Parts: sequence; C-alpha cells; structure tokens
Amino acid sequence: MAKYELKTRNSDETSQFAERLAAFLQPGDVIALEGDLGAGKTTFTKGLAKGLSIKRTVNSPTFTIIKEYQGRLPLFHMDVYRVADSLEDLGFDEYFEGNGVTVVEWAHLIEEQLPGDLLTIYLYHEAEGQRKIVLDPKGPRYEQLCKEIFQ
Ligand code: ADP
Ligand code: MG
Repeated sequence: MAKYELKTRNSDETSQFAERLAAFLQPGDVIALEGDLGAGKTTFTKGLAKGLSIKRTVNSPTFTIIKEYQGRLPLFHMDVYRVADSLEDLGFDEYFEGNGVTVVEWAHLIEEQLPGDLLTIYLYHEAEGQRKIVLDPKGPRYEQLCKEIFQ
C-alpha cells in the first residue's frame, strides 16, 4: 500500500498541513498519531482542530485520556500513553464508531482496541524544527483520503 510523505520546517507548517487535512475528514474517521515525545503529535492535533473550526484551545489530554471538542465535527482527542498497561476496556469503540473524528496519540499502545481501518500518521524528528510526516492509510476510505490530500 502506498505511503505518503512530506517534510515540515517548523511547527506552523505541521499545524497547517493538519488544518488542510481536516477539510477532508468525515464522521467516524480515526487518525493514529505516532512519534516520540515532542515529535509534534499535539501540535498536529491543534492544527486539525483549527481546520475543524474548533474555537477552544486544544491541550494534551495526557491526564484525562480523552477530551472532546465541538466544531464542524466533534473531535475526540486521546492520549493513551498512560493507559498502555491497563487491560480495562475504556470504551474506545464508542468514539471510533461515533459521529466525530478521533485522534489517538501513542495509538500503537492500544493496538488491539483500534479499528482495522484507520489513518496512521508518523512524525519523525529530523533536525531542529524539522519533521518528516508519513501517512500510512489502511482501508479504502483512508487510501482515498490520502489521494485527495496529495493530488
Ligand atoms: P508530542 O505531542 O508529539 O509530544 P508536541 O506537539 O507536544 O509533541 O510538541 C512538539 C514540539 O516541537 C513543540 O514545542 C513544537 O513547537 C516543536 N516543533 C518544532 N518543529 C516542529 C515541526 N516541524 N512540527 C511540529 N512541531 C515542531
Ligand atoms: Mg502530545
């Protein structure tokens, strides 16, 4: 399956790319964000929120696990870093199958609970201020989405 790649030179460019991507999103879309601490997962999510016309400030939900915002579509922002070891079912499905867009930071830590079809976005720290962003779509919906964004 094709992967899509771009580079950004600063946090604004990462945010702007996410903002552009947001225009293509539909209810029920799930985006998994992967990358080390400080790679730009939350920065990306802030841009996405802007693109969904969310007015509230989006902060890292590390201590709350899930935060919900209202915009053109609802945004469910999850950071599962701290629930990794929990075997508890936190009811993620309700969000994935809901009427909004779900963004999951550190998604691989809850791999078994993720839907089969989703868009994984990897952020790699390249140099000071620079990131490589790789989009890895799984399933026809996300392949189409990537084609539209990169055409
Ligand atoms: P994460 O959520 O992955 O831990 P954050 O988005 O919270 O990462 O932090 C990323 C940090 O890196 C921010 O301080 C941001 O300003 C900085 N940064 C520098 N260059 C970039 C870039 N090209 N893309 C995204 N963030 C960048
Ligand atoms: Mg974060």
